[in-house]
Amino acid sequence: MSYKLFIPGPIAVSEKTYKAMTTPIVGHRSKDFTAIIDNVEPRMQKLFYTQDPVYLSTSSSWGVMEGAVRNVCNKGVLNVGNGSFSDKWYDVSKRCGKNAGFLSFEWGKPIDPEALEKELSTNKYDSVTLIHNETSTGTMSNLQEVMAVVRKFEDVISIVDTVSSFSALPIKKDELGIDIMITGSQKALACPPGLSFISASKRAHDRAEKTEGRGYYFDLIEFRKNMEKSMTPSTPVIPLINALRSKLDDIDAEGLEARYARHALNNKIVREWGYGHGFKLFPEEKYGSVSLNCFENTLDVDLPALLAELKERFHMVFDGGYGKLKGKTFRISNMGDETPDTMRELLNNIDAILPQYIK
Ligand SMILES: *Cc1c(COP(=O)(O)O)cnc(C)c1O
Repeated sequence: MSYKLFIPGPIAVSEKTYKAMTTPIVGHRSKDFTAIIDNVEPRMQKLFYTQDPVYLSTSSSWGVMEGAVRNVCNKGVLNVGNGSFSDKWYDVSKRCGKNAGFLSFEWGKPIDPEALEKELSTNKYDSVTLIHNETSTGTMSNLQEVMAVVRKFEDVISIVDTVSSFSALPIKKDELGIDIMITGSQKALACPPGLSFISASKRAHDRAEKTEGRGYYFDLIEFRKNMEKSMTPSTPVIPLINALRSKLDDIDAEGLEARYARHALNNKIVREWGYGHGFKLFPEEKYGSVSLNCFENTLDVDLPALLAELKERFHMVFDGGYGKLKGKTFRISNMGDETPDTMRELLNNIDAILPQYIK
């Protein structure tokens, strides 16, 4: 059975994008391949709002999230947590043998710049990990405020996960002073999973050169050496790079401003629908994500039963709550190719069956 994904990643992939994946494979040391990289690289830099290189990694985002820590943490890394993904980064840092600190906020609360400043002032850290958009709770922190604090600490390399917000709204890497920015193919870029992106500043590369234990697969220095020749360190997932190329064509055709406006409108439609039914947004409204809505299950809906019928009857899926919030919240993604019409179609289908599942 095929069904449409409105979960916050992976998300629905268009026929055009799938078709691009069947473009015949070329050798990854050939001119045919470097031409593909030369095509996508400047367009990815534009989406990252950066002059720094954007490396393509054949891995899910966690590959480069772990890799980033291994590249730049010598002294200590501060992992800032306010949900499932950011909490996990702390665990990953420890598993990499790093001296890791954890600054945690309640789930659904954003990163508090003041608390962050206080913790960085302890001088225990040379790197910090931040998640812009905590997908598990639909909470988006204010990167402007957070980065203004981080930039006060000259020795601290910032690593920012924009996995579920990238390209849904502008995130201006260079202007914000982000050293390392990370995203993945299967969220708002609406490509299948398996390709991720990491863009790193000169400062980050300089740090990497002095850092032991970077390994090979996610080594920034290897990435840079290869990108100088428009290549990747090892054989990349070429079908996904072809999918990305096709997606970048779509993004260019639509225009960035229109793309951002469409995401904002889709998000608003869902949020108003939720409010109309009496659902409360899980995070404080001001910090509600623009790429998904996470609602509290305030009406005590039997989510598993509703989701089962939605899938069976309408071939659509949204998410019934992440981790410890399962059943207590639900999340509807509005990332990627969705339009007001496709969002309304989902909401109308939910409305058709919702009353019978309110306990
Ligand atoms: C989806 C997601 C990830 C994990 O991505 P993978 O591609 O599964 O490794 C990390 N961070 C955030 C914020 C995400 O939404």
